[in-house]
Amino acid sequence: MEKMRAALFENHGGIEKLEYAYTEVPYPGPHEVLIKVKACALNHLDLWTLMGMRGVKIPLPHILGCDIAGEVVERGSKVKGIPLNRPVIVCPGISCGKCAFCKDGWDSLCSDYKILGLQRNGGYAEYVNVPERNIIPVSSQLSYEEWAGVPLVFLTAWHMLVTRAALKKKEKILIHAAGSGIGSAAIQLAKLLGAHVLTTVGSDEKIKRAKSLGADEVINYRKKDFSIEIKRITHGRGVDVVFEHIGPDTFAKSLSALAKKGRLVTCGVTSGSVVNLDLRFLFVRQISIAGCYMGGFRELKKVVRLIKKKKLKPVLDKVYPLREAPSALERMRSRINFGKIILVP
Ligand code: ZN
Repeated sequence: MEKMRAALFENHGGIEKLEYAYTEVPYPGPHEVLIKVKACALNHLDLWTLMGMRGVKIPLPHILGCDIAGEVVERGSKVKGIPLNRPVIVCPGISCGKCAFCKDGWDSLCSDYKILGLQRNGGYAEYVNVPERNIIPVSSQLSYEEWAGVPLVFLTAWHMLVTRAALKKKEKILIHAAGSGIGSAAIQLAKLLGAHVLTTVGSDEKIKRAKSLGADEVINYRKKDFSIEIKRITHGRGVDVVFEHIGPDTFAKSLSALAKKGRLVTCGVTSGSVVNLDLRFLFVRQISIAGCYMGGFRELKKVVRLIKKKKLKPVLDKVYPLREAPSALERMRSRINFGKIILVP
């Protein structure tokens, strides 16, 4: 058996559980391909996976990483039409492709839905095995590091803004945490859709960068209460849409920042998963809340087309060698990053 280097863990826990070790190179099944990983982006999901999640079966030892860019170097016996040694990215969600949800483009509702690096090994390694139908060919106009910063955040942002919130031209939207990977993707996409974007940052140094992505108004949430600022900026009306991915730290104020008939879309819980909700506020103001979980393969293809046309661009924070995966995760956890953190094997 051939060996490869990987950042893996044998037991759930904190970042200290991660080891840089040798493991076997996986062998592709009939409808799988072997990817030589050139770059893999970090996501908050990795920290949750490392800690372990109730009700989610994570095989041990385990390799994290769902955002993969690389080249196909080996094809399963039944794989046809996928060229070798060309740049590709991998759709992070794996589904059956046959059920009603999959056919409708709602892959993440498939009963067989799995995420790379969560229920099966991911890209914190030199090689990874993935289903052939998850491969998306890309161009060399972006580096592998940049391409790795695309799949999860742009796919989720698209599903939230286009499919769930149906964000329209001239609507006002609050996007939390411009410096997060998902925030930096959502700001660009919301601007492309013609919306007026208000966003938050945790330090003054990030204000300029948020504006360079297209944000119209930037609020330092450590200095000012963002919900009061939103009311001030919108002359008491509030925003049409809130893009939530934080949880209890922001949720109640996110709701209060909404205009009447406003929509809140949520995809993540970086500060915890239980919130207080005053239902009276919800029904009197006729507010909608929509849950979002990743997105569909077709949505990711639309995103890739827009990136190839240079309408959207992944924002990179810092690139680390794979052996420094613990430092990279620590950087993400401390939230000092602006954009995606990338590992290179
Ligand atoms: Zn399905």
